[in-house]
Amino acid sequence: HWTRVKKRLRAELGEDVFTSWFARVDLEDHSDGTVRLSVPTRFLKQWIQSHYRERLMGLWKHECDDVHRIELTVRGAVRARPAVGGVARPVPAAPRAAQQIKLVESPVAARAETVSTGVARPAAATPRDGSDGLEGASLDPKYTFDSFVEGESNALALAAARQVATAAAVTFNPLYIHASVGLGKTHLMQAVASAAQASGRRVLYLTAEHFMYRFVAALKAQSALAFKDTLRTIDLLLIDDMQFLHGKQVQQEFCHTLNALIDGARQVVVAADRPPADLETLDDRMRSRLAGGLVVSISEPDFGLRRAILTNRIDSVRRSHATFAVPEAVLDYVARHVGNSGRDLEGALNRLIAHNQLTNQPVTQEMAEATLRDLVRNAEPRRVKIEDIQRIVSKHYNVSKADLLSARRTRTIVRPRQIAMYLAKALTPRSLPEIGRRFGNRDHTTVLHAVRKIEDLARSDTALAQELDLLKRMLDA
Ligand code: ADP
Ligand code: MG
Repeated sequence: HWTRVKKRLRAELGEDVFTSWFARVDLEDHSDGTVRLSVPTRFLKQWIQSHYRERLMGLWKHECDDVHRIELTVRGAVRARPAVGGVARPVPAAPRAAQQIKLVESPVAARAETVSTGVARPAAATPRDGSDGLEGASLDPKYTFDSFVEGESNALALAAARQVATAAAVTFNPLYIHASVGLGKTHLMQAVASAAQASGRRVLYLTAEHFMYRFVAALKAQSALAFKDTLRTIDLLLIDDMQFLHGKQVQQEFCHTLNALIDGARQVVVAADRPPADLETLDDRMRSRLAGGLVVSISEPDFGLRRAILTNRIDSVRRSHATFAVPEAVLDYVARHVGNSGRDLEGALNRLIAHNQLTNQPVTQEMAEATLRDLVRNAEPRRVKIEDIQRIVSKHYNVSKADLLSARRTRTIVRPRQIAMYLAKALTPRSLPEIGRRFGNRDHTTVLHAVRKIEDLARSDTALAQELDLLKRMLDA
């Protein structure tokens, strides 16, 4: 059913719109007349709910008339909540940046504009159709350079970010920052945006998802030209979570914008969870354009930096909760055992705060251990190694490891090889080129093809899907 619904959606909405909103929607379950779909982000959930709910329902009913309910859930959204049910964030914080659309502007920026650019100001305060193109995601005031703790793993990214935030002349363009989740990309991007904005530059900070949303909305309202024009008057464009840019037309538009801005000596900063070469949804030209400036990565914080991030957060919490205190030993414990990313640390700290506020119990080692037990258990997921994958797959399918890595195209070897490459991509943080190298020096496109092939097959072939699960369990992943 889902395949047919998707086909109809694609036909009705066109390839671009379909890819933008539905390419990452998965069917989780269909039973008792309820269809459960999952999406990767809250933004996507809200967007689909407000724009496509009825259409989806209509299409499902057409396929299967017992369907009376469609539920959308956000995949993997259950982490890092306070331990106690229903508690609001204990630390007063601005809403997560990407969830709100608001004009990024400051009095300084407005003044500077009349002096410097002379560009007619788009009617931001009185949006005609909501697509004046200058709306960015709101910036979280707590994401500043001051609150960003420097360590070895982020020093280069921080230096580059400072440089683009303050430099009069454009030096690296685009600046491309990549790191896995929770390591401070958004924090750094927003620090750049706030600092540049405060110095009077016209700044637009958007997630790639918002960029698509703005663009598709402008197309619909037939104001795409105005949108493009406005984009090109920006001094500093920051695009976060680039890995979510989908759709050919949107990409083309983004590419044009990028070229126009770079040619006009305006700064572009891009963040993503992987290096440019691994942005599989983008075409080659785009990838090389992104790689053509300065590419920096943030790696996992060491103990010292994790500890420093915690201390820094506690200091700011204490500004509103003066009585909140965490013993040094507990901070050591959290820094040592809870996750690796700033997000994990923040989640842990929020729990301690919530617990402290709700029970009026001081934070102690026992309390921390009890409250954070599940975070600690998940903290160090066993790292699956490519050798382990190759060993287990060759044993399971009874092919030798030499055959697995060879160039032989026999069917009985090709499939296990593809499965092994798929598992390597799914279970390890290795990039496609690196996986290619480890599988007898194959090209990254071969790996990508294998990954897609297995994903596709597993969707319709439940036996294969179960087999993959089994292999994952054998790898203890
Ligand atoms: P990303 O966008 O890379 O997923 P975020 O920027 O959202 O990560 O960071 C997650 C959390 O960790 C944020 O609350 C952020 O402030 C915090 N954080 C990450 N790195 C640092 C750092 N070096 N100093 C201070 N806070 C950090
Ligand atoms: Mg982010």
